[in-house]
Amino acid sequence: MSYKVTIIPGDGIGPEVTRAALTCVKALGVDIEWEERIAGKTSLDRGGQLLPPETIESIQANKVALKGPITTPIGKGFRSVNVLIRQSLDLYVCMRPVKSFNSPKALYPDIDLVIMRENTEDLYAGIEFPEKSSDTAKVIEAINSISEKKVRPASAVSIKPISRSASERIAKFAFEYALANQRKKVTCVHKANIMKYSDGLFLDSFLQVAKNYEGKVEYSDVIVDNLSMQLTQRPQHFDILVLPNLYGDIISDLGAGLVGGLGLAAGANIGDQIAVFEPTHGSAPKYTGQNKVNPIATILSAALMLKHLGEVKKSNLLEKAVAEVIKEGRCLTYDLKADRSDPTACGTQEIAQAIVEKINLLGE
Ligand code: NAD
Repeated sequence: MSYKVTIIPGDGIGPEVTRAALTCVKALGVDIEWEERIAGKTSLDRGGQLLPPETIESIQANKVALKGPITTPIGKGFRSVNVLIRQSLDLYVCMRPVKSFNSPKALYPDIDLVIMRENTEDLYAGIEFPEKSSDTAKVIEAINSISEKKVRPASAVSIKPISRSASERIAKFAFEYALANQRKKVTCVHKANIMKYSDGLFLDSFLQVAKNYEGKVEYSDVIVDNLSMQLTQRPQHFDILVLPNLYGDIISDLGAGLVGGLGLAAGANIGDQIAVFEPTHGSAPKYTGQNKVNPIATILSAALMLKHLGEVKKSNLLEKAVAEVIKEGRCLTYDLKADRSDPTACGTQEIAQAIVEKINLLGE
């Protein structure tokens, strides 16, 4: 089987980590024609748009993309390209596995959970009103005329929309994923005790969907602050977590910290037709071109992509090769070393090469 996949190398460390991932995929012998497209700072520097139409068109045509991190230029008027891609392609699930992978930096050796973050609404909808603008004054006036609780004049306001349709579809995705991947429990994360209407709707939608999976998948719910504490104490207790956008963002980084840092945190943005696979971390500009950072988050994102394409055996082989290289500990990037300035740390391409060698060995 051959595939055509869009590759966006990204900015900063992006080209290095995506090159490492492509090296590993090539070693697996999967027949992929990569269609390279640009976005972000790389595109702006070449006189293009932040998110060129040909980049979006390529993802729409190929339905699958692997993406490196993209720098969001600092300054007014620039929105995150990542948020733009997710919203414009309606990639409503941000899936982030949190797995120990033998990492010497993991706080527990047996963490294996999956975060499903709602990707399209909540405080990330971008509906914001700045301090002291006439539009903001109108919004505040409208709220104060109908709400018992009043907004202080000259406040800034961000809107947190949560809809039943968006909440139901991510809950359904999580339960279907549980069934397809032999996962046992889905937990809805919220703050419905305080945000009774927005988070309350997210929770109620989840509970309605859960009824369809009664007897097939266990389910529960937990308040986000309680979850944060429990995750640090007994992460093994959780299996699949479903969260609104903002909590999902924060808990994803907590999850990355549990298993040893951003260098291991893979991710996927998934819609009904299209999926974009990318590491959780950003473009870490200060490490650009140093062959220093950990490419494993991108390599594991490529493993998720292979699974999505139906190449389950190759995906499992890649994950196993990564886990064994980390376990052996002979070639580890600086972030996985006990001492981050350890001079024996491996470089980005060297650890990719160690994974390739492991693939060749395991695949024999
Ligand atoms: P970052 O994730 O780029 O870097 C923070 C720190 O994490 C780095 O300094 C480094 O110490 C560590 N780190 C990150 N990736 C690593 C890796 N692969 N191996 C080892 N260590 C790693 O976060 P930031 O500095 O807040 O953001 C930099 C830029 O990236 C910003 O422009 C931001 O908007 C963008 N960003 C993009 C994405 C994305 O494309 N999905 C995600 C987050 C941030």
